[in-house]
Amino acid sequence: MTDYDVIVIGGGISGLLSALTLSKYGKNVLVLEKNSSVGGNCNSYTVDGFQVDTGPHAITHLREGPLRRLIDEYFTYVPVFLDYGTYYVRTEKGLTKIPSNIQDFVTFDVLPRKDRLLLSQALTKALTLNAFGMLDGSQSIYDFLPKGLSKDTLDFVDAIAPFLSGRSMKETSVNRVLYGSSFVRDSVSEDIFKDEAVPNGNSYASTLTGMLSKYQLTARLSTLGRLATNRVAYAQAYPRGGLKSLLNSVLYSMPSNVSIKTGAHVCEILTLDGRTTGVATDTDTYTADAVVYSGFVKTLPSLVPLPSDFKENISRIEQTLSLTIWLGLSEKMKEFDYMGSEVWFKNGAYWAMPISNYDPTIAPKGKQLVGFTFIIDDKKNIESEKKRALEIIMRAIPGIDKKIEMMHYQIIIPEKAAVTINGFIAGQRSPIANLYLAGTDTDNRSMGVTRAAYSVLELLRVMKEDKKL
Ligand SMILES: Cc1cc2nc3c(=O)[nH]c(=O)nc-3n(C[C@H](O)[C@H](O)[C@H](O)COP(=O)(O)OP(=O)(O)OC[C@H]3O[C@@H](n4cnc5c(N)ncnc54)[C@H](O)[C@@H]3O)c2cc1C
Repeated sequence: MTDYDVIVIGGGISGLLSALTLSKYGKNVLVLEKNSSVGGNCNSYTVDGFQVDTGPHAITHLREGPLRRLIDEYFTYVPVFLDYGTYYVRTEKGLTKIPSNIQDFVTFDVLPRKDRLLLSQALTKALTLNAFGMLDGSQSIYDFLPKGLSKDTLDFVDAIAPFLSGRSMKETSVNRVLYGSSFVRDSVSEDIFKDEAVPNGNSYASTLTGMLSKYQLTARLSTLGRLATNRVAYAQAYPRGGLKSLLNSVLYSMPSNVSIKTGAHVCEILTLDGRTTGVATDTDTYTADAVVYSGFVKTLPSLVPLPSDFKENISRIEQTLSLTIWLGLSEKMKEFDYMGSEVWFKNGAYWAMPISNYDPTIAPKGKQLVGFTFIIDDKKNIESEKKRALEIIMRAIPGIDKKIEMMHYQIIIPEKAAVTINGFIAGQRSPIANLYLAGTDTDNRSMGVTRAAYSVLELLRVMKEDKKL
C-alpha cells in the first residue's frame, strides 16, 4: 500500500495541470513544490503597489488549443480571458503592426523594400518546397535567408526567432518557422488536419490533392492560402486580474484528492528494480505507484540514476535566460496607448507589454505598468546585462526615465528547453518504469503555457497507454 497513487514533483503550471487532470481520474495525488508558493513561472506578485507577472505573457491557442481542451474538460473555475490585441514593432518613428501575411509584409516599411521582397520570396519558396516535401527544414533560418539583407532586417528576424524557439535565428530551424508558428498547424495530439480546407476556389490545389497524400498536401497548401489571406484563427489573450488568475483557476478547480506541500524540495526519486517507488525530500519520504517529474529534465540525473544514453541526450537540452524589467510609471504614457505588445529590434531587442492596459487594477490609479523582456547572455555579467537593457529602453522610449516610479528585475529561464536545431526534448516517458515527465522540456509544440498544456495532454495519453489510467 503506497501513500499516494501519484506524486507530482513541482508545482508550476505543468505540475498543477498534471495533478488536476490525474485527480479527475480518481487518483490521490501529492504535489511537492520546493518554493514557498506554487505557480513557478506562472504567477503574479505585488511590488510597491504594482502587480507584476513572472514575465510578460500572451496566452496563445485559446480558441481550440491544448489549454482550451484542459479548461473545457477539467476546470471548475475559468479565468476571464481578455483579447490580447496587436503585435507591434517599435522604431524611432513609433509603432507599426507586425505583418502576419505576405500582403501586409509588402507595405511593412520598417524594413528596406528590397529586403521585404527577398524575405517574402524566401518564405513563399519555403512553403512551396514544404508543400511538395522538398524542403530541408532542418537548416537554420539564417542559412535559409537570402544573402545581401541589411543589418536591420537580420536584427528583425533575430528578434522574432526567440518567439518561435527561444533562441537566435542561427539556432532555429526553418521547420520551426513553419510548424512552430501559426502558418502550419503544430498540433499532433489533436486530429491535426481535420478542419483544414483547401483555400476557396483553388483548383490547382484540388488537382494535386488527388495525386499526392491527401491530408498532407491539403494541409500544406492551405498553409499557403493562410499565409496569403491571414486566415489564422488562434485566439490569444491575457487573463483579467493578471497571470495569477490562470494559476488561481487551476488551484480553485483542484478537488480534495490532491494535496499540495510547499517548501518540499525533492532531493531523490526512489527506485527498486528499475521502477519508481516514491520520492524523498530533505525531511520526509513518500511512496507512490507513479511519479510525475515537472522540474528541469536537465537536472533529473541528480535525483535518480539514469542510463547513459538518456543522460547524454539530456545534456543536449538548451535553455535561454531572460531578463524582465518591470517599470511602474507615475502616469500613463501615450507611447503605451495600445493593447498587445511591442518588439524593439535595433541594436538590441526587447519584447514589451503594458499589462495594466488590460486591467487597471494591476497598477495604482492613473499609473501604468510595462514589462520589458530581453534575452541575456548567461556567460556575461548580469549587472552589465541589466545596464545594457536599460539603455535600450531609454533609447526606444525617450523620456521614460522621468516617469519611472518603480523598477523591478526578474531573471528567469522561461522554458525548460529551447527548440533548437541540435537541442533535445525529452518526451513524457522516462527510462524508469512509472516515472513520467511533464513540462516545457518534454514537448516541442508551441511555446510556454500552451506547450506545458500539450505536455500534460500527452502525459495522460502515455499513462493511459501504460494502463495507469
Ligand atoms: C519572461 C517570460 C515570458 C514568458 N512569456 C510567455 C508567453 O507569452 N506565453 C506563454 O504561454 N508562456 C510564456 N512564458 C513561459 C511560461 O511562463 C512557462 O512556460 C510556464 O509557466 C512553465 O511552467 P512549468 O510548470 O513547465 O515550469 P515551472 O514554472 O518552471 O515550474 C516548475 C516547478 O517545479 C519546481 N521544482 C523544480 N524542481 C523541484 C524539486 N526537485 N522539488 C520540488 N519542486 C521542484 C519549481 O520550483 C517550479 O515551481 C514566459 C516566461 C517568462 C519567464
